[in-house]
Parts: sequence; structure tokens; C-alpha cells
Amino acid sequence: MAAFDDEKVLSVHHWTDRLFSFTTTRSDSLRFSNGHFTMIGLRVGGKPLLRAYSIVSPNYQETLEFLSIKVQDGPLTSRLQHIQPGDSIIVGHKPTGTLLIDYLLPGKRLYMFATGTGLAPFMSLIRDPDTYEKFEEVILVHGCRLASELAYRDFITRELPEHEFLGEMARRQLRYYPTVTREPFATQGRIPDLIESGQMARDLGVPELNPQVDRVMLCGSPQMLKSIKDVLEKRGFNEGNTTTPGDFVVERAFVEQ
Ligand SMILES: Cc1cc2nc3c(=O)[nH]c(=O)nc-3n(C[C@H](O)[C@H](O)[C@H](O)COP(=O)(O)OP(=O)(O)OC[C@H]3O[C@@H](n4cnc5c(N)ncnc54)[C@H](O)[C@@H]3O)c2cc1C
Repeated sequence: MAAFDDEKVLSVHHWTDRLFSFTTTRSDSLRFSNGHFTMIGLRVGGKPLLRAYSIVSPNYQETLEFLSIKVQDGPLTSRLQHIQPGDSIIVGHKPTGTLLIDYLLPGKRLYMFATGTGLAPFMSLIRDPDTYEKFEEVILVHGCRLASELAYRDFITRELPEHEFLGEMARRQLRYYPTVTREPFATQGRIPDLIESGQMARDLGVPELNPQVDRVMLCGSPQMLKSIKDVLEKRGFNEGNTTTPGDFVVERAFVEQ
């Protein structure tokens, strides 16, 4: 079996000049868990040019969705940002990753901390009924530089609470806490600072992060991951992985070169 499928682009949405998302057809044989990433890309000069991408769409959806940065001189995204409905992209057959609910120990409250495109895996996890069965409360924290980069904000705040099957769970159990660093916004500041200062807990009306009851998933820039990991480890949280569940799990949203 080929390692990749050719899929057709169905729709493209440009959020800003740095961020876009797109949907594609999905091969019947592609299986993944919510929170997984896979390799996707384009054929350039007859050869596949691939990068890791978290899957935005939940695993029960018939189509695939991805959220992408536009790096102007990036080998893949300098090209990928120009895709149009009807174009082909390649999608790898081996989704993988550590942001799975199964890699966390049981807990009461699940925090999802994302910066930028790090939101992507959480978009599938907040549409997984399992997430709400395993945790009483799910808190999605998304940090961006500008408010316009808070992708899917309308979906999270308006559409999901009205969703036919997930609406009730989302209304009752999901909290959304967006924060912006470079312009005025209801909540401003970096996620690690909002945790350390206690502001996030005060704003949400929840106790400070505590490894006895809280579980955490992280997906963001290398700098954000390091800062939050330090905060969590200082508070006694242990990292989990694909073989040993823990109090928190981490995935890189990208690699700095
Ligand atoms: C596990 C994993 C999951 C990923 N999931 C996604 C995803 O869902 N969406 C996505 O857009 N990218 C994601 N990435 C990053 C992606 O693999 C590519 O790096 C990105 O598509 C840019 O590709 P490129 O060839 O244009 O540039 P590259 O040569 O890959 O990157 C050039 C530089 O651009 C910056 N950069 C790359 N990606 C990002 C990003 N997402 N946000 C901010 N700066 C970035 C970095 O400084 C990097 O060194 C993921 C990476 C990993 C490791």
C-alpha cells in the first residue's frame, strides 16, 4: 500500500496573511485518533514535499481539515498557501502523536494550552465525546499575537454550543479562554504569565493548577512549551508519553530551524 493518498482540496479559508485553513477529501482507509498529526504536502518536481500537520477535523468526519501557517520562504507553505479547491495534496497514512486523551491519567479538569497553529489538534479533541466523558471540565486556552489570529473563535463560541450532538456537552463542560499578546483584547498576555500570576485561574473562577485533579495538553512554539513545562514541573506535574500516561502531554506546533 502506498504511504500516501492523493486528496482533493474542497475549500480554503484565509484567516490572515499568515494563517489559512483548508478541507480535503479523505480516503476511507485513513484511520487516526483525535489529537494526531500526519505528514501532508505537495508534489514538487515530481517528488513529495511533506511536513507534519495536526488534523483539525475529528476522526468521525468524512473530510479532513488542516490549519496552516504561511511562511513566505518556507519550502512547503510558500506553495501550499496558494492551493485552490480542486487541487491535489498528499496525505500520509501514518498519523501519530502524543496529544491523546489516553496518554493522560484520569483527572477532573483538562486544560488545553495552544499558541498559534497549536490550536489544530485541540479542534478535533473538543469535538470528541470521549473528551467530555473523561473530564468534567475542559478549558481551551489559545494564545496569539493578534485577535484576528484566533482561528475558529466563532466556531468554538457560537457553532459548537449549538451542535446537534456535541452542543450540550460543549455548553456544560467546555470553557474557551483566548489571549492576545500584541494588541488590546479582553485577556492580554502570554499563557505562562497568566498561569504564574494566577490571573487565568481568577478569570475562570477555578483553583490554581494542581496535579491532583488537573491534566494538561500543550501544543505551541518551542519557547511556549518550555515555559509552560517549567511551570507545570515546578508544581509537581509529571509528563506522559505514548507508553506511560502522565499528568501532562506535549506536542510541538513546529520546529525552530
Ligand atoms: C508535530 C508537528 C505538528 C505540526 N502541525 C502543524 C499544523 O497543524 N499547522 C502548521 O501550520 N504547521 C504545523 N507544523 C509545522 C509544519 O510541519 C511546517 O514547519 C510548516 O508547515 C512550515 O513548512 P515550510 O516548509 O513552509 O517551512 P519550514 O522550513 O518547515 O519552517 C520554516 C520556519 O517557519 C517557522 N514555522 C514553521 N511552522 C510554523 C507554525 N506552524 N507556526 C509558526 N511558525 C512556524 C519556524 O521558525 C520554522 O523554522 C507541525 C510541526 C510538527 C513537528
